[in-house]
Amino acid sequence: MGHSVAVIGAGIAGLRCALLLKESGIDVQVFDRQEHIGGRMVTERVNGFLIDHGFHVMQTAYPTSQRIFDFESLGAQAFEPGAIVVKNRKNKVKFWRLADPFRRPFQGLMSGLNGFTSPFNLLRVALLRAKVRKGSLSNVYLEGDDTSKNWLSKRGFSSSMIDDFFHPLFSGIFLENELRTSERMFRFVFRMMSKGDMILPREGIAAAPNSLADSLGFERIHLNSDVKQIDAFTISVNDELQNFDAVICAYNPRMSESKRHVWTLHFDAEKSPLNSKHILLNGDLKTKNQLIAHVAVPSDIQPSYAPNGRSLVTVTIVGEAAQELGLTSEREIQSKALQELRDWFGSQVDTWDLLATQHIEHALPEISADSGLSESPLIRKNSFECGDHMMHGSLEGALLSAEKTAKQVLESLT
Ligand SMILES: Cc1cc2nc3c(=O)[nH]c(=O)nc-3n(C[C@H](O)[C@H](O)[C@H](O)COP(=O)(O)OP(=O)(O)OC[C@H]3O[C@@H](n4cnc5c(N)ncnc54)[C@H](O)[C@@H]3O)c2cc1C
Repeated sequence: MGHSVAVIGAGIAGLRCALLLKESGIDVQVFDRQEHIGGRMVTERVNGFLIDHGFHVMQTAYPTSQRIFDFESLGAQAFEPGAIVVKNRKNKVKFWRLADPFRRPFQGLMSGLNGFTSPFNLLRVALLRAKVRKGSLSNVYLEGDDTSKNWLSKRGFSSSMIDDFFHPLFSGIFLENELRTSERMFRFVFRMMSKGDMILPREGIAAAPNSLADSLGFERIHLNSDVKQIDAFTISVNDELQNFDAVICAYNPRMSESKRHVWTLHFDAEKSPLNSKHILLNGDLKTKNQLIAHVAVPSDIQPSYAPNGRSLVTVTIVGEAAQELGLTSEREIQSKALQELRDWFGSQVDTWDLLATQHIEHALPEISADSGLSESPLIRKNSFECGDHMMHGSLEGALLSAEKTAKQVLESLT
C-alpha cells in the first residue's frame, strides 16, 4: 500500500520536499495557515505594480536553484554586477559606480580610478573574490567561523571600506546591522554573487514557489489550514485530527526568536532615480547613522514590476538600524527615509507615491559567528523538520534542507 505524508508549511522548503516525495510515489498533502503559498517568498499586485514581500532576488549561481528552476521560463532578468554607492563628501552628495572588474573590465577599470577607495582596497576585493571562488563550494564552510566584520578586517580592509561598501551591501542581505553574521555565510554569498547574477522573475519572486506548486499540483495544497502536530503520525488541521505515515514540519518552530527584521518601502515614481541597472548602496549608513541600506528599481531590469511609463523604487531598511535611531513607527520610518531620498535625488522624491510599507519581523534565522554553519543542512533525529533555519536564510538553504529531509523520510518509510 502507498504511504501518505503531511507537510506543514507551503514555503519553498515544504513545497520542494513535497514535490520530491510525490515523485517517489508518496501521497503527500501540504498544509499552510496562510491564504497563499510561498511563505516568505510572496508577491502582491498593487495598482499594477508587483510588490515582493521585502526586496528579494534569486541568485543564478545557487547550485540547487540552478538544478530546480528554469530561469529562462521564469522570464528572469538580471541586475548589473557591481553597485552604485552614494555618500556625502564635503557636504556634497556623490555617486560612485563600482563595476565588477572581471565581468565588466572597462567599467571596472574606471571604478578603480574614480576615487571611491584606495587601489589597495580594490586589489583586496579582487583577492577576496579569487579566494571565495577557488575550489569546491565546501571550501567556504571550512576555516574560521568569526563574524563577517572581523573576517574582513583580518583580510586587511580599511574600516572605511567595510563601513562604506560591505556594510550597506551585507547588512541589507543579512538583515542585521553589525555584520555579526558568520564569515562562512559571507563567503557563501560573496561567492554566489561573483559567479552569477541577481535576477528577478517576470511574475515577481513568488514565481519560484509557484513553479514548484505547479509541478506538485495545487489540489495537494490546503491553505488557511492552521496545523498542530499531535505526534509523529497525527496532525490537527483547524482542530480536526488527520493521520499519516509521517509528518514533516516545514517551518521554523522557533522563528519568533529571530531578531532580524526589515522595513521595505515601495514607491511609484514617474521615472527611475538611477541611471543604470545597479543597486544603490548607502555609504553613509554606518558612519553617519543613517537609515536606508539600499535602493533598487526592480522595474529598470524587469519592466513587468511597474505599469507602462512608471517605475517601482524599493527601499530596504534594516530593522536594527531603525531601532538604533529610535524609530519604531511607520510614520517615523517613512519620514526619515524620505529625507535621505530627497538628499540624494532632490525634489523628484516629492512626486513619488508610497505604494506599500512592509515591516517583516523574524525575517531570517540567526547565523552568528561560531554557529558551525556547514555545507550540510541539519536534520532532527526523532522527527522530520526542514526549512532555511536548518541551514541558512536563503532560497538555497531552504531547498537543500528540503532535499535532505525528503531523503530522510523516504529512508524511514522503506
Ligand atoms: C525580506 C526578505 C528578503 C529575502 N531575500 C532573499 C534573497 O534575496 N535571496 C534569497 O535566497 N533568500 C532571501 N530571503 C530568504 C528566503 O525568503 C527564505 O530563506 C525562504 O523563503 C525560506 O523558506 P522556508 O520554506 O524555509 O520558510 P517559510 O517561507 O517561512 O515557510 C514556512 C511556511 O510554514 C507556514 N506555517 C508555519 N507554521 C504553520 C502552522 N502551524 N500550520 C500551517 N502552516 C504553518 C507559514 O505560513 C509559511 O508559509 C529573504 C527573506 C526575507 C524575509
